[in-house]
Amino acid sequence: SRRGQIDVAALADRIRAGERAALARAITFAESRRADHRAAARELVQSLLDRTGGAIRVGITGVPGVGKSTTIDALGSRLTSEGRKVAVLAVDPSSKRTGGSILGDKTRMRRLAHDPNAYIRPSPSAGTLGGVAAKTRETMLLVEAAGFDVILVETVGIGQSEITVADMTDVFVVLMLPGAGDELQGIKKGVLEIADLIAVNKADGDGEARARDAASDYKAALRILNAESGAWTPEVLTISGREDLRLDTLWSRVEACRAAREKSGEFAERRARQQVRWMWDMVEARFRERIVEDDRLAARVPVLEAEVGSGDLAPTVAADEIAKLLGF
Ligand code: GDP
Repeated sequence: SRRGQIDVAALADRIRAGERAALARAITFAESRRADHRAAARELVQSLLDRTGGAIRVGITGVPGVGKSTTIDALGSRLTSEGRKVAVLAVDPSSKRTGGSILGDKTRMRRLAHDPNAYIRPSPSAGTLGGVAAKTRETMLLVEAAGFDVILVETVGIGQSEITVADMTDVFVVLMLPGAGDELQGIKKGVLEIADLIAVNKADGDGEARARDAASDYKAALRILNAESGAWTPEVLTISGREDLRLDTLWSRVEACRAAREKSGEFAERRARQQVRWMWDMVEARFRERIVEDDRLAARVPVLEAEVGSGDLAPTVAADEIAKLLGF
């Protein structure tokens, strides 16, 4: 079989040894559409499972232009200079590689791109958010098995992707722009609700005072929002990714957040919950794949969608027909 050509055990050994080429190959399998590649990726993850889970996983979001790549480049370089191994992954289901910024693009992180202790992987190519996230989760485990102990997962603060990323990380950082007075109204409440740390970026030069004002606004907003809080109370700080100001503080607060959750038991609970949710996401993804791959379903689904959309067919009846076609 074609699958027999992939020597999973050998590849796993090379990943354990930290070989970048092996890691890249494994990630390509995880992102592949080919069933044999995906099966190999699953086997790899399973055989490397004892080597996973050790990294601190940090989600980073913010609108385009807020300074995500600049900040990740500076923060990541700081961490590698302290002896850590940093992987930068991205979740961007909208990216069709045309227009807009490409998350995790190496050219946007010039220092890290040439850093032997950093590994940058752009977002898997466009697909459903669930599909993109599932691939990134596998990649996360693979980079952990290869010895990376810091994982930064970048996403754009638009749509649902930041919630998905918060769901696969230990600590969630939201970058904001100064001059928030007006912006605050446009910011989705949901983002503030999942933020563990809000870092107002571009707090340098002329921007410093405005960044401080914005920080107080966000502090006030968080106080209103945070009725129920666990082991960690979200914090706000001002940083400059470009000038490398207070990135050391940002990182120490990230670690403080994780430590607080470890102490309270929330960390282990959160990881366990994430694993189980991942399983169900995979089940859903499989169903969706089946629908796309099955010719009868692929032909019938658009018709059902149209009839449901026009109100001629009850959604429950259409769902029932799809379930039957899936073999239930
Ligand atoms: P991203 O789209 O969120 O990744 O943002 P970028 O990192 O590409 O930054 C967008 C623009 O903001 C670039 O022109 C950066 O040089 C600038 N920028 C990023 N961080 C800072 C900062 O801390 N201070 C200032 N003044 N400009 C910044």
